[in-house]
Amino acid sequence: MKTLRGIPASPGIALGPALIYQPPTLQVERRHIQDPGAEGERFTQAVVRAKAAIADLQAQATARLGPGEAAIFEAHRLFLEDPVLLDKVRQRIAERVNAEAALLDALEGYAQALASLPDETFRQRAADVRAVGERVLRELMPANWGPAQLGLNSPRIVVARDLTPADTIQMDPSQILGLVTALGGPTSHAAILARGLGIPAVMGLGEEALAEISSSGELVLDGTEGVVLIDADAATREPYLRQRERFIADREQHRAEALLPAQTRDGRRIEIGANVGDVESAVEALSWGADGIGLLRSEFLYLRSELPPSEAEQVQAYREITKAWGERPMVIRTLDIGADKPLPWLRLGQEANPFLGTRGLRLSLQYPHLLKTQLRAILRIGAGYNVKIMFPMVATIEEMREAKRILAEARQELQREDLPIVEDLEVGIMVEVPSAALMAAELAAEADFFSLGTNDLVQYLFACDRTNPRVIDLYQPLHPAVLRLIRTTVEGARAHGRWVGLCGELAGVPEAIPILVGLGLDELSMNPPSIPQAKAIVRSLSYVEAQSLAERALQLSSELEVRGLIASLFPDLAQLH
Ligand code: PEP
Ligand code: MG
Repeated sequence: MKTLRGIPASPGIALGPALIYQPPTLQVERRHIQDPGAEGERFTQAVVRAKAAIADLQAQATARLGPGEAAIFEAHRLFLEDPVLLDKVRQRIAERVNAEAALLDALEGYAQALASLPDETFRQRAADVRAVGERVLRELMPANWGPAQLGLNSPRIVVARDLTPADTIQMDPSQILGLVTALGGPTSHAAILARGLGIPAVMGLGEEALAEISSSGELVLDGTEGVVLIDADAATREPYLRQRERFIADREQHRAEALLPAQTRDGRRIEIGANVGDVESAVEALSWGADGIGLLRSEFLYLRSELPPSEAEQVQAYREITKAWGERPMVIRTLDIGADKPLPWLRLGQEANPFLGTRGLRLSLQYPHLLKTQLRAILRIGAGYNVKIMFPMVATIEEMREAKRILAEARQELQREDLPIVEDLEVGIMVEVPSAALMAAELAAEADFFSLGTNDLVQYLFACDRTNPRVIDLYQPLHPAVLRLIRTTVEGARAHGRWVGLCGELAGVPEAIPILVGLGLDELSMNPPSIPQAKAIVRSLSYVEAQSLAERALQLSSELEVRGLIASLFPDLAQLH
């Protein structure tokens, strides 16, 4: 038996066989062909179809993104008219190589030549050449393409080097017992998705450790402790099986009381929201007892397709959610992409520090077409719902003003078009950049509410990448520095009568809840499976005692001391996960 240690990323226990996940790549077969004439014709037809498909994408991208962004598709189409490339393929086919392999040979030479050039623009072109090649291959081998397939026919523990949100979103959760990754940490987006789905996960095991796991090998995964056991014997597995049963039973028991409100013993009501990332989980979150949707990560609309979603598609998705939630609050966060959430269809180019680069609202402001379409779709959801808009990653007041200006434009356009729109809706921001927390009083003059995004706030405060297991020790969400920023944000909001929520992963961490309540937050929004327990914890608290705990914690000098203080006052909470 072998024991591997990683970072606890999603609580719960899983036992079962492993499946090593490789992101989908296409296997191209190399064949000797008999009839170069027919093969040449097959290639020509594939190029014609690929060009038509690219032209189609270009037309859609022009409508949705604007002509500037769509120009890349024009470049892609022109590659397929380049005589140097086409002659090279035909020459290989004449040498009796099948069209797929001939294309790969020609493209590889072309892409390598570009990749070796010193200029960054040319290096990026190499990626374009590969993308175009892939498109022609799709036409040559249509049967081999489909959505990312895991090949699961029985439930397994999925083991991967890393998982992007796009990888994770395409997996069938009913077939996944648990997730294990070499990279990533508790606030990486794959971990957040795992918690939302209630799938136990251990992340950040390291590449070497991961190499020890083979496909089909039996694993025990403890997502609460961050431990993975390989080939454990029956005696070792036994307590894990019992723990698993207890975990599930506890969860069910809390769930039975999930619809009771989260009100402290002395009468302070805390709104408990759900963080959701797609239509299905948004609808399901109701049954976990959420008072509303505190964070709708609208990225799901953008990650699944090859192109940005149209306004009509977005309106339809939002309406499906509002249909289920009626008049309960629903905070739609505008597109928050970049860094560990790349978009397949938006070429951002290389950035040395993506987490400090073009992401969140800055990306939307650089692509105002995208933001405008989304805002129009939100406004078009219709009257009678309690929809709110939230902008992510705001660092300065000018960004907030610019986003609101685009919102006003969207509103005017819709009015001119005589389309019915939501008249009155709150517009808030995520506070996840330290500058925004420090300037909360000024921002509160412009924002109707704040939601603290501690996942990012902590990484920016301690200058430690939230997905890098090597700096995980510096990632300290309960550090007094974080608590002081939360306090500053709450005070800034109060000065203008605004409400403040917190939608980072910290909101669902049992031992954090008393301090968060004591700091004066009005709302806590979390992954749905954490809601019943969080509500039960709030109901067990006294607000006055929580306030005095927060006051004491604010005076301390390290996270260790804060955790010690919590453990001394709430010994039971530290045991819960
Ligand atoms: C956060 O940063 O805390 C947050 C909720 O946003 P995300 O995790 O999607 O970056
Ligand atoms: Mg964030």
